[in-house]
Amino acid sequence: MSSAARDRVAILYDPALVQELGQRMVRLFSQHLAQIEAGEGPVLNWRDPLENIAAARKTLLTPATNERLAERFEEMIQLALTRGHNLHHPRYIGHQVPAPVPIAGLFDALVSCTNQVLAIYEMGPWATAVERALIELWGEQIGLVPGTFAGLVTHGGSLANLTALLTARNAVCPQSWSRGLQVETRRMVMLVQGDVHYSIARSAGILGLGTEQVIRVPLDERRRMDAAALRNLVDEHRAAGEHVLAVVACACATPVGAFDPLDEIADVCEELGVWLHVDAAHGGAVAFSEKYRHLIRGLERADSFICDAHKTLFVPALCAFVFYRDKRHRFTAFQQEAPYLFDPSAPGMAEYDGGMLTVECTKRAAAYGLWGLTALCGKELFGDLIDLTFDLAAWLYEALREAPDFVPLYEPMCNIVVFRHVPEFMAERSAEQIGEFNRRIRRCLIESGEFYIVQTNCDGTGAIRVCVMNPLTQEEHVLQLLEAIRRVGRELHAAD
Ligand SMILES: *Cc1c(COP(=O)(O)O)cnc(C)c1O
Repeated sequence: MSSAARDRVAILYDPALVQELGQRMVRLFSQHLAQIEAGEGPVLNWRDPLENIAAARKTLLTPATNERLAERFEEMIQLALTRGHNLHHPRYIGHQVPAPVPIAGLFDALVSCTNQVLAIYEMGPWATAVERALIELWGEQIGLVPGTFAGLVTHGGSLANLTALLTARNAVCPQSWSRGLQVETRRMVMLVQGDVHYSIARSAGILGLGTEQVIRVPLDERRRMDAAALRNLVDEHRAAGEHVLAVVACACATPVGAFDPLDEIADVCEELGVWLHVDAAHGGAVAFSEKYRHLIRGLERADSFICDAHKTLFVPALCAFVFYRDKRHRFTAFQQEAPYLFDPSAPGMAEYDGGMLTVECTKRAAAYGLWGLTALCGKELFGDLIDLTFDLAAWLYEALREAPDFVPLYEPMCNIVVFRHVPEFMAERSAEQIGEFNRRIRRCLIESGEFYIVQTNCDGTGAIRVCVMNPLTQEEHVLQLLEAIRRVGRELHAAD
């Protein structure tokens, strides 16, 4: 090995370099955060993807010499900050991805720098411990009985849904893991909320059930699952000789944030003996809010459910939880053996080996951010964050109702609000044209960096969707949003 290589490596592993660059990074990030939080500069730094990819490629071909490491490091941090998306900007009112509490990211940085991973307890003893403690805390907060339930942490709600539905499949059809679904001669169906997230249909495809076996249960006027319709559907499918693998309800569904009546749905599932899975990716966090916890009443009765901490607990992605009401199901999803991992000389340890429970083998310790915040500030913090963001959405809804040129489509149940701008000059146009007009307004707004908001489809036509995921967003900002939408609408109209 050449001594130049050895020297270079030694420099990179030198704690003094970590100290030097770490301080520079924290300084640059906190300066950036100060500007962003004050509402300066763009929300999204919009650029054509090809332009960004070319710029990224260029950085790969121009590494620094040892003497210029610190300088080069600063340039790179600046580049990442100025080309990125600024979720801490109070005019970020977009997807269900939060402006995380920034210090949660510092705890996550500790994970990355020390490479704490799970699969087996030995490789991440503290990481395993904080995950287990948080599963207990959140599960009990939701109303599960201490000591009777189990859970796991995985990389996002989609993987969490897949894992829980795999457990449901293996529990309902025990031979399917080893022999495949062909052991089941009857048609197997999954009855799901009409607006379920696409990860549910994907799970059906991946699990060998087939996406065509995903049957949508009708919704009521607020887009919640209709429990009476669910009962009829279960009866119908059973009468036709089919097997109902699971019911999937939402708390809440993504399009307009509708929370299903979980108690009523749990009644149906208990009575008819069907596995109930609830996708509470977005809404599971309301357990921490006195004001909004009623929205998930009955969640504790589901056989399985999932919650994303990286949404409404305001920690960085990815950190998602799966819960099983009955802890006997904790090993039902994966039943294979991996003798080199799981040591028969310490049989009790498998209980703490995360790899027994998750798709991942090496799994990044995903809950340090959540552990850090909870241990530092107390779980009451999460109730405050929920209340601030949900209350503002309710306030926006009232503002929209009072405005003659805005049409809110549903009364919000959480921090998601869906609406259309319909100024006088659009009043006579078709629903499709109004939808298209709203989509164009959004495009202009996000590319200019003035606001970040989302679009959706409601009853087949475009609408604007906002989700208050930054607790620094206030009334003044949403009023500015309405003004900006009006202004862009007039400009588009004038240009047509
Ligand atoms: C966000 C979301 C998901 C997907 O979770 P990811 O963490 O993005 O994979 C699934 N279901 C619902 C209801 C969601 O809101």
